[in-house]
Amino acid sequence: MAKLQTPRFVYIGGRLRSWEEAVLHVGCEAVTRGLSVFEGIRGFWQPDGSFAILMLRQHYERLCRSARILHIPFEKSYDEYKAIIDELIGALIEPGLAMWSRTTLFVTEGHWGEDTVADLVVTAYNLYAEEFPLAINLGISSWRRSEDVSLPARVKSASNYQVGRLARIEGRKQGCQDMVLLNRSGRVAEGTGSCLLMARGGAIHTPSASEGALESITVNIVEALAGSFGIEFVRRPVERTELLVADEIALCGTLADITLVKTIEGMPLRQPSILSAIQSAYLKACNGTEPHPFVELTPLPACSPGKTARNSAGGKA
Ligand code: PMP
Repeated sequence: MAKLQTPRFVYIGGRLRSWEEAVLHVGCEAVTRGLSVFEGIRGFWQPDGSFAILMLRQHYERLCRSARILHIPFEKSYDEYKAIIDELIGALIEPGLAMWSRTTLFVTEGHWGEDTVADLVVTAYNLYAEEFPLAINLGISSWRRSEDVSLPARVKSASNYQVGRLARIEGRKQGCQDMVLLNRSGRVAEGTGSCLLMARGGAIHTPSASEGALESITVNIVEALAGSFGIEFVRRPVERTELLVADEIALCGTLADITLVKTIEGMPLRQPSILSAIQSAYLKACNGTEPHPFVELTPLPACSPGKTARNSAGGKA
């Protein structure tokens, strides 16, 4: 597992500060109650030399939805959000190295939902090719995704990841790189940080969000790519035993890309064909070699050709 990187800059408290300065107070609700909502976003170098963020507007909109459900005020416009990401990534990016970023609204003031104030904190990290496994062993966790009336899966909040952490600890003991979380009814919800895709009978199936999955941006992309290939795409409840008789399984998410699965609960799956075709179309659409109309890529001006980390306005000096 890659060690946590410590990039030189973090956007916090309205400007870029050093990694060491980027701290939260022990008394704030972000710390005492784990109260924050976030988005993990991903950038890809494009053939024209620009660095572009995948589905940025959709991530901004989901951040707004998560904040709304948890009554966290968030006034920034899409353009302001984009400018902050541009400023930080522009200050950190190294030519040729991809980056991902976490944009988090931490609740810094307020108490039990009164006088809530949140700070938009943005971090960005390098992405190395070796972090993407070719295919993984997937287990099924004994831990369950919480319900909509307790910790809604629709909300991308830090506290929602406690169960995924426990599932991954459980999975490591079984030699699994990721685990399926079932919902309270014992049907498939999602992975620990990704959604689940299953190929059966020539179609792709995925649990709908109401089964306990995040409203995934990557699933929407997969649906569009499947449509272009003429492959049926179905959102429906998926039972645990279906995974054991599936033709192919993959996990998908902004940071997981399309991760193919080689074994499910220790049982080997056949060589993927439908999902590997989707995986390759997805990567080509993201890196701009075969654009797809559904796959939106937003270039960051501070990372445009000629503006490297060393001469950006981020102030490396
Ligand atoms: N479920 C969880 C719990 C996740 O953390 C993610 C990653 N954001 C996903 C699903 C996939 O969502 P997306 O495709 O929007 O990245």
